[in-house]
Amino acid sequence: MLSHGKRLRGLDMDKPTPNFVDYETACTEFTWDRARQELSGMAGGRMNIAHEALDRHIDTPTAERTAIRFLPRDSEQVVDISYRELYERAGRFANVLAGLGVGRGERVYALAHRTPDLYAAALGTLRHGCVFTPLFSAFGPEPIRSRIEIGEPSVLVTTERLYRRKVADWIANTPSVRHVLLIGEVDEAPAGTADAGALMDQAEAEYATQAMDPEEPALLHFTSGTTGRPKGALHVHEAVVAHHITGKYALDLHPGDIYWCTADPGWVTGTSYGIIAPLTNGVTLIVDEEEFDAERWYRILQEQAVTVWYTAPTAIRMLMKYGPELARQHDLSALRFLASVGEPLNPEAVHWGREVIGLPFHDNWWQTETGGIMIANYPSMPIRPGSMGRPVPGIEAAVARDTPGGIELIEAPDETGELVLKKGWPSMFRGYLHEEARYRKCFAGDWYRTGDLARRDADGYFWFIGRADDVIKSSGHLIGPFEVESVLMEHPAVAEAGVIGVPDEVAGETVLAFVALRPGDEESETLRKEIMALARKRLGAAVAPRRVEFRSDLPRTRSGKIMRRLLRARELGLPEGDLSTLEGGTQ
Ligand code: ATP
Ligand code: MG
Repeated sequence: MLSHGKRLRGLDMDKPTPNFVDYETACTEFTWDRARQELSGMAGGRMNIAHEALDRHIDTPTAERTAIRFLPRDSEQVVDISYRELYERAGRFANVLAGLGVGRGERVYALAHRTPDLYAAALGTLRHGCVFTPLFSAFGPEPIRSRIEIGEPSVLVTTERLYRRKVADWIANTPSVRHVLLIGEVDEAPAGTADAGALMDQAEAEYATQAMDPEEPALLHFTSGTTGRPKGALHVHEAVVAHHITGKYALDLHPGDIYWCTADPGWVTGTSYGIIAPLTNGVTLIVDEEEFDAERWYRILQEQAVTVWYTAPTAIRMLMKYGPELARQHDLSALRFLASVGEPLNPEAVHWGREVIGLPFHDNWWQTETGGIMIANYPSMPIRPGSMGRPVPGIEAAVARDTPGGIELIEAPDETGELVLKKGWPSMFRGYLHEEARYRKCFAGDWYRTGDLARRDADGYFWFIGRADDVIKSSGHLIGPFEVESVLMEHPAVAEAGVIGVPDEVAGETVLAFVALRPGDEESETLRKEIMALARKRLGAAVAPRRVEFRSDLPRTRSGKIMRRLLRARELGLPEGDLSTLEGGTQ
């Protein structure tokens, strides 16, 4: 497969100093105003995310740096696009929108796999002051249609193939969509669509980026739908301040880094950290068109000399399944920093990184609603495997308990409560589309309620317990599925685990574990007993699973997260409802 030409050369920065060396000092010195000054802003206090990602580099040497190195699915020819070229392509796209009479604030959805055109369309949409919404291209017709009905975009950017397969049948019933623009190769544009490439070729590259009020909407992101119907979270242009600074602090991005974010731009991670933060930080983005493939991934890390890699536990667990040999056949020495997000990162995965790749994975925590990383393990801070790390400078996080009137912060360390964040960081969502009451319910006074349970240790590290809805109550104990799953994964035969609570007359609930084995390991009664014995030894009888069941695979969201609620619904014969249908199947 790939032999992607000459290796990219980062700037002369063998092992640059981390962007901050002392956490306490970074927190004391931090203000959001200072963070804002790292960006250029626009006259009169105006802003635009794309201005920070592209325009401000244009009169600097960064303009000639590779912004995107694109690795096509079935060609060995890489495509390099400089910051200047990306800026111009985005300008052409903005001019196309202007020419079609699409106005500021209108919504533009993108449904396309990872190609440079998708990035140009996203940035062109922002330059034109429209609101950008990415949809995951592997969605089936139903999740696409429901999200279009909720968000009522004026424009849908997609490809000819996706349009014919997933959209053409029903698009006439969604009257908000005035234009369908096809990116990539277009054989023959179906009626009602236009070839975006042809329009862009005719359009001017020059475009004056719209100067937006920092509070004007820029992005509408749908949540992953792990717990039910996805919600549309609205973000504003000012969010770029948080994207930039968290990219710099929590991912340790330095100008010239070769950076690979494996999340698809169809998800919030793939936008905040797959488009915006890397470009504001002047790095070279690796964009791979192909889906997960263990060997291809290692080769990309080696051949592209990736320095910073941001991925997810589901991918790491898959790599672990392939065993250490494959990793060791590759030269991964260019890597400097590994990070993970999206689900809890089992300590086993942190150790594996250290042993097999030579570097640990740094877990960080955030949500679609927070727009950017909130809690992280930094390069300059010792990792506590299993912990999400400490709040990003500028973010105040706490653990709280419910009271009749709202919430009360828990000051004592090591107590479990809801993870809450002090309102007011720039990338905080400004609403759930059409769900004002639900949005209001997320706040208690000055605090945003995340819906996740956590505890904070005496040194200020946060530990994820579980989603409030997933926590198991057994004989008076509060059991977080993550803790149990992490122990199960310590067994060498266990590749993945999903833990749920099932009703029990005596205990209230008992713990039931589903485990998927590594290739080569066979289900057996002996193995089941061994796994249960390990769990009892490590967790105690009260917390260990009462039952362990083997599964060849665990149900997941489209973004790869284990759906415990679906496991539970199936086990108890409850209606699966939105959980399994909306995403068009979860396997
Ligand atoms: P929905 O809100 O639609 O049910 P979702 O919560 O999975 O879906 P996202 O916003 O993509 O949608 O995911 C955020 C959630 O993912 C967090 O609230 C948390 O439960 C989980 N998560 C993300 N990162 C981590 C992490 N590092 N450790 C533990 N959990 C994490
Ligand atoms: Mg959520």
